[in-house]
Parts: sequence; C-alpha cells; structure tokens
Amino acid sequence: MDSWEALKKECLGCRGCALADTRTHVVFGDGAADAEILFVGEGPGQREDELGVPFVGRAGQLLDDMLAMIGLDRTKVYIANTVKCRPPQNRDPLNVEQAACAGWLERQRALLQPKIIVCLGRIAAKELIKEDFKITQEHGQWFERQGVAMTAIYHPAALLRDVDKRPETFEDLKSIQARARAVCRHTSL
Ligand code: URA
Repeated sequence: MDSWEALKKECLGCRGCALADTRTHVVFGDGAADAEILFVGEGPGQREDELGVPFVGRAGQLLDDMLAMIGLDRTKVYIANTVKCRPPQNRDPLNVEQAACAGWLERQRALLQPKIIVCLGRIAAKELIKEDFKITQEHGQWFERQGVAMTAIYHPAALLRDVDKRPETFEDLKSIQARARAVCRHTSL
C-alpha cells in the first residue's frame, strides 16, 4: 500500500511522457489526505506549473469561491488533475499523456477512497465517467463507478469565459452539497 509521502515523491520524479521535458513543477495535488470528496481537473496551467499547486490561477480562484458556496474549502476536499504536468500553451492533454499519467490518479484514489468524485470539465469526465461524456447535456447528472458517486460540472475556466453557465453550475453545486450531506460522514457542511 502506498503512503502519500512515497507516492508524491515518486510522482515528482515522473518522466512517463514528454510533458516532463517542458514542465517547471509536477502538480501532484492539494487538499486533505483523508478527504471524502475528490475534485479532478484537466491539467495544470501556467500558474500551477510555476507553483506546483493545482488551481491557483484565475480558474482556481473561482473554484475556491465555488467550494465556499457549498461550505467547502481545500482543507475538506482533495484537488487533483488528470495530468500532473502542464501541456504546452494550455492545449488539451493528448490521449498518450493521459494514459501515461492515469496511474498517479488511480493511486491517489486508492489512498483517499473518496465517496464522491467531481470532474471539473469534459476532459476529466471523459477519462473518469465515460468516453462519450457530453458536458453540456450531462453536467450535474450522477453516475456510479466502482461504488463511487461521480458527477461533472463545467470547468471553472469555462465559467470565466461564459458567465451564462453559472446558474446551472450553482444548481449542480447544490446537488453536490446534498449528496455530500447524505454520504460523507466527517465532512461538515
Ligand atoms: N485547470 C485545470 O484543469 N487544472 C488546474 O490545476 C488549473 C487549471
């Protein structure tokens, strides 16, 4: 069985794909080691690459606000990405990069044993929920995968670009709060 410390150390040295050549930092993850809710984004952007911490740029500030709306913060959840290194120019991660990186998230999931996984955007939803996930039609819906309740919401960067999506996302966040109240035992909400 992994320990968080050993897993992080191994991950920080990863050279499993070409993103290792252009990264500044591996962005391993952030949050509580015993969180019951796992949020999964796409991959680090420029600021995250500089600091080695997920969701610290503008989209990250919005994510923090979204968490606060439902009584959550980074001390109560865990935040990770499908790929741990920044794709150049913020392009979508390639399938080969996602495949090379998937094992790290799997091992983070094994350590956390989350009750709820929230995918932030289409890329994470396609990897974790189903390959043909349609974010515009299926955001906010619940899926069960290996006993874990999973949903996807619009990526915070999409909500920065298109504020019209925010009311729907607020409904999705309330649904996440309700589910968390029902299934999480030590997350006070
Ligand atoms: N967007 C992501 O998907 N992940 C981050 O960590 C930052 C921005």
